[in-house]
Amino acid sequence: LHIEPDLAANAQLTLGKDQSLYLAAVLRKSVGDEVVLFNGRDGAWLARLASDSKKSVTLDLVEQIAPQTPVSDLWYGFAPLKTERLDYVVQKAVEMGAGVIQPVLTKFTQVSRLKHEKLVANAIEAAEQCEVLSVPRVAAEITLDRLIDGWATEQGERKLILADESAASASPLETLTALRGQPIGVLIGPEGGFSDDERMKLRAQNFVIPVSLGPRILRADTAAVAALAVIQATIGDWR
Ligand code: SAM
Repeated sequence: LHIEPDLAANAQLTLGKDQSLYLAAVLRKSVGDEVVLFNGRDGAWLARLASDSKKSVTLDLVEQIAPQTPVSDLWYGFAPLKTERLDYVVQKAVEMGAGVIQPVLTKFTQVSRLKHEKLVANAIEAAEQCEVLSVPRVAAEITLDRLIDGWATEQGERKLILADESAASASPLETLTALRGQPIGVLIGPEGGFSDDERMKLRAQNFVIPVSLGPRILRADTAAVAALAVIQATIGDWR
C-alpha cells in the first residue's frame, strides 16, 4: 500500500477514509493482519493492523523489509489517449519500468486536458501492483515543440527513441542494444499519428532515433507496450 507519511520516523500510522475502507472492507484485513507499506522514499515496511475500523485503520510499523530502490532512468513520453486507453498506457509504463511519464501534446492529439491527479493515482496503483517501491513521476503535459526545443537543456545527452511506423524497417534490436548503458527516452504518437511536419522536425534532431516496431500500424497503446518491451529486452534494467 502506498502512503505519504515517513515510515522510518513513525511507530504507528492512521490511514485516511479511502485507504481504511480499502483495507478493512475490500481486502477484509482485520486486527493482527499484515500489510506492506511504501512511500517512495523509505523502502518497504511490514505493518500490522492495530485497529480495523472502516473509517480509520491504525497500523503498527513492524520493520523495514526491503531497502528503497532507485528511480528508473527511463523517460517515457506519449500523446495522451482517450479514457481507458490513457489509464492503460500509464499503467503499462509503470509496469515496464518508466521513471518519468510525460504526456506530450501533438497536432493530432485528441485529448488536451488531463486530470493530472488521476494519472498520478493510476501510477501509484500500478506501482503497488508490480511492487515498484519508487513511483514514477507523472509530469504535467507539454507541447511537442516545447519538448523538442527544451530537450538538450533538460535532458542533456539522453537519446529519444521515436516509435515511428515509417522508420527504416530494420529490426530495432541492434539499434537499441547499442544504446545499453546510456540514458534514453521513448516517444509514442497519438491515435492519428505524428503529422508530416512533426515527424520531419523530430527526425532532424540529433538526439532522435526513429525505430520501427514492425510492418503493421499498431494502435498507439499497443505501440507503447511493444516499444517498452523491446527496450526492456535489449537495454534491460536501467535503474
Ligand atoms: N489509429 C491507430 C490508433 O488508434 O491507435 C494507430 C495509431 S499509430 C499511428 C500511433 C503511434 O504508434 C504512432 O505515432 C507511432 O508512435 C506508434 N506506432 C504505431 N505503429 C508503429 C510501428 N509499426 N512502428 C513504430 N511505431 C509505431
